[in-house]
Amino acid sequence: MSKGKIGVSTQDLFPIIKKFLYSDHEIFLRELVSNAVDATQKLKTLASSGVFKGSVENLQVRVKADKEAGTLTISDNGIGMTAQEVEKYINQIAFSGAEEFLKKYKDAGNAIIGHFGLGFYSAFMVSGKVEILTRSYQDDAKAVHWCCEGTTDYEMEEAEKAERGTDVILHLTKEDLEFAEEEKIRYLLKKYCRFLPVELVCGKEKEWKDGAYKDTEKDWVVNDTHPAWTRKPTELKEEDYQNFYRELYPAAPDPLFHIHLNVDYPFTLTGILYFPKISSRMELQKNKIQLYCNQVYVTDTVEGIVPEYLTLLHGVIDSPDIPLNVSRSYLQSDRNVKKISSHITKKVADSLADLFKNSRADFEGKWDDLKIFVQYGILTDEKFAERAMEFYLFKNTEGKYFSLEEYKTAVGELQTDKDKKLVFLYSAKTEDEYAYIQAAKAKGYDVLVMDGAFDTPFVNFMEQKHPEYRFTRVDSDVVDRLIVKEESPKVALDEREQSDLRGIFQSQLPKNGGMYMVSCEAMGEDADPVLVTRSEFMRRMKEMSEINPEMSFYGKMGDQFNIAVNTDHRLVKELLEKEKSALCGQMEPLRKERDELQKQKADIEALNKDVKPEDVPASDKDRLSDLDRQLEEVGRKERDLLGRYAEENPVVSQLIDLALLSNGLLKGEGLHRFLKRSVSLISLD
Ligand code: ADP
Repeated sequence: MSKGKIGVSTQDLFPIIKKFLYSDHEIFLRELVSNAVDATQKLKTLASSGVFKGSVENLQVRVKADKEAGTLTISDNGIGMTAQEVEKYINQIAFSGAEEFLKKYKDAGNAIIGHFGLGFYSAFMVSGKVEILTRSYQDDAKAVHWCCEGTTDYEMEEAEKAERGTDVILHLTKEDLEFAEEEKIRYLLKKYCRFLPVELVCGKEKEWKDGAYKDTEKDWVVNDTHPAWTRKPTELKEEDYQNFYRELYPAAPDPLFHIHLNVDYPFTLTGILYFPKISSRMELQKNKIQLYCNQVYVTDTVEGIVPEYLTLLHGVIDSPDIPLNVSRSYLQSDRNVKKISSHITKKVADSLADLFKNSRADFEGKWDDLKIFVQYGILTDEKFAERAMEFYLFKNTEGKYFSLEEYKTAVGELQTDKDKKLVFLYSAKTEDEYAYIQAAKAKGYDVLVMDGAFDTPFVNFMEQKHPEYRFTRVDSDVVDRLIVKEESPKVALDEREQSDLRGIFQSQLPKNGGMYMVSCEAMGEDADPVLVTRSEFMRRMKEMSEINPEMSFYGKMGDQFNIAVNTDHRLVKELLEKEKSALCGQMEPLRKERDELQKQKADIEALNKDVKPEDVPASDKDRLSDLDRQLEEVGRKERDLLGRYAEENPVVSQLIDLALLSNGLLKGEGLHRFLKRSVSLISLD
């Protein structure tokens, strides 16, 4: 027997291993199983180069949990180690890198990431004592027994072992006895090792017998050694991809579409990415892609490795070229990672473009679900955005799909405004905006459906990128002004009439916090008498402020609406006529007075036209402010008169409320009053 000291300068390596890896305790199992798998793969390599002459048919790794003994044993029939090799690989801790790492991250607490190749020594995260029993593949090799109790001292001696390979025996500490439970170990092996390339066995298959589960003769194999992504795309049928997806996500609905990644130059990368089917925004989940390194599970946090928008996809990526033992910020600047990321983007864009070109009907069938991923990609990845406009689809309210080019051809003639901008009319809620959509259609316009989670930012993006496009929601203005061709149609009323009409309606506006403006519009006899519209700009700013905290200023502002009074409508005309005859006697003198005051004001202003404001004589200034005060007073009297008139004619409030109601804006007390008034207006004759 020989005794010795493990060759490591940091005396307190073991406590550090225990302390700092606490949060990721279970990774020891992955490390040891990976070593065992490596040992079998190395033997395969030796066999293929002719150095090893024996059979490599039955290579296997076995994990045995022994609850009674409190041990966990990981065994392989790989290359094994000679005494010199144990001395070299185990006793002289070769990982100067790991030591440095530990020093550096001593204070970083749990922020350190799990995988940094500490390998074999991670066994001490859970064990008080670790034994190795190993015999090299070499013909004359003697077996070696090595033992260490978690200090820098070890013991090593010759031993008996019938078979080639290595057993690593962990004597678990009291706190870690859960790892001696077969159930727990099976769960962890499923998590980290389910796609390892060598058969991995843990206990026996069970059967229900005599009222309990009993072991059968058959080994319980953990893994699928040839998962779909390691096979050639030509070998796989659609069904195989679906089955693999179900294996990964048993509860998820069938995916929309998959992409098989298969690169071997200038880096190695394989994998299958799936576009999941998502029915609501709540279901968007990041980190469903699993990252593997030579079929060993590493992590499901792939941010930094794949472009942001692809973190929403599902599937598997396997690459030995992604450095796993570094921080995320380093990852993002790593050249390999950058190449991988842009390769994946290209591949995803290619596949979508292919589907668009070659199976248009299929693509359209999937588009409603694909759209959210494509938009997210467009918004976050410039390269992807360039490609995506080839296959991006616009859907109209009739359920027809158009590419950008197709849409331009379809609507270009009718929907180009006087500034040569192509106007995309859209609706966010087709039910709520029904009347507006019908009005637009009646004019021959096409209306798109834009009801997705990313539609508002997407619309902003499109307008920024393409100043020749403008997006306008159907309810943002009266239909004649949605797409302005030339000067807007003249309202048949004169200034006075318009001002009276505005005054009448203004006096009855709701006082529920929103901001309302009144305008007179000639909308045609058949259009509604009053229509509520909401400025595209203000509404969009508000919507953006919900996503973007920097714009919270807009979020705090009250909602702004425009009440458009249809001067062509019978009721509006009648209201005005009635007002004229009812108020004529009172309004006329006020108007005369106003005209007189305004004339006097204009005279004084004309006199001082070329005088600097500070040189205007004090007497003129006083006179001007006196005139303003008088004008204000006249205005107040006019408003009072119009207000009283409107008050006496409940039809004014009724028309406003009907318009608010059709926009879902009439609530609470306003709604209550509307209902009462409606009943009182109903009569039997
Ligand atoms: P790494 O695997 O990163 O090299 P480890 O500490 O896990 O670091 O292992 C050190 C070395 O010990 C390995 O490179 C290998 O040569 C040897 N080794 C570990 N486990 C086994 C095993 N099960 N069979 C054969 N050799 C092993």
